[in-house]
Amino acid sequence: MIGDQYLLLPGPTPIPERVVRAMSKPMVNHRGPEFKQLLLEVTGELKEVYQTKQHVLIYPASGTGALEAAVVNFLSPRDKVLAVSIGVFGDRFAKIASEFGAQVEKMDFPWGQPADPQRVKERLDQDVNREIKAVLVTHNETSTGVFNDMKAIGEALGSHPALLMVDAISGLATIDLKMDEWNLDVVVSGSQKAFMIPPGLSFMAFNEKALEVHKQSKMPRYYWDASQGLKYLEKGQNPYTPAASLYYGLAESLRIMKEEGLDNIIERHRNYRDMVRSSVQAMGLELLAKDEYASHALTAVVAPEQIGANQIRKFMLEQFNIVLAGGQQKLDNVIFRIGHLGYVRELDLLAALAALEISLYKLGWEIELGIGINKAQTFILNKTQKGD
Ligand SMILES: *Cc1c(COP(=O)(O)O)cnc(C)c1O
Repeated sequence: MIGDQYLLLPGPTPIPERVVRAMSKPMVNHRGPEFKQLLLEVTGELKEVYQTKQHVLIYPASGTGALEAAVVNFLSPRDKVLAVSIGVFGDRFAKIASEFGAQVEKMDFPWGQPADPQRVKERLDQDVNREIKAVLVTHNETSTGVFNDMKAIGEALGSHPALLMVDAISGLATIDLKMDEWNLDVVVSGSQKAFMIPPGLSFMAFNEKALEVHKQSKMPRYYWDASQGLKYLEKGQNPYTPAASLYYGLAESLRIMKEEGLDNIIERHRNYRDMVRSSVQAMGLELLAKDEYASHALTAVVAPEQIGANQIRKFMLEQFNIVLAGGQQKLDNVIFRIGHLGYVRELDLLAALAALEISLYKLGWEIELGIGINKAQTFILNKTQKGD
């Protein structure tokens, strides 16, 4: 099939040509001046994306590596931890903490819904002896396409001393997240989501409060040790050999992001969400999440039962070379997920929605061709008339 594949996953995402070229630079000495400059530049720019003045460390790992880094740096064995979960990735964060010996109390919400900050507050109010050491929360739950109100959850902690540790791997730079202003103590993200570079880097931001906890923490750790990370960062180095080529890609993607501006990036993702949701609904399909908390990064669509989500994905791939994500665990074959984060443009989504209409039609869904695409076009037209 001619042309590039449309990779519409909620990570990994397509990579801009500029980033691909930046990563083809010759290798440098990772303890030399070029790398020092590169490391200091990307660390500084990452702080802008996190809206923080605190610490940021970069790890050569996918996002889960940095979730583990958060657990081993800021918890101790037998610490009581409240793990708020609204899906697969909330469960994963909880599992990592319990594997390392924390006493994890799960607070589960139905898949497709966000966490209720009031319930978090009530649970912490009950904890009169202040035994809970950390609250784990997912910013954007990629398995269901739902985001949590991190500002409200930050407020729910109030004066409770627990650390608020956030998995913002797919949320950062698609949905607003003000780390310092909202009192988020540890925030993790990853390279293959909104950062538009290949998988292989993850980021862990943490504040002074978390650093104090880290110094007392008794969790066994070596490779992920934040003290080592900070010590070497002062010299413009990583403790161990960094994935230098990915850093060049990151530096370029951060330049692209700066040119667009963080607020514009977030608004662009919000527009994608609104456009995709209105179009898919016009096709007669149901959405898993309600409007108020629907993710900017991806849309989870409930497939017609008689067709099944996986058959739609297969048809889209074979006929159009478009890759959509399936549902995970109990949502397998129930939903398909359209990723619309990172290096994606409106036209890509228009094409994918048109292909989706044809696929649904061919698979026997009663649909009037053009009905969903019309919604998407109207959305773009209205936006254009508003002057942007
Ligand atoms: C992608 C993702 C992860 C991490 O996945 P990796 O495959 O390890 O990069 C964790 N949490 C969320 C919310 C994600 O979207």
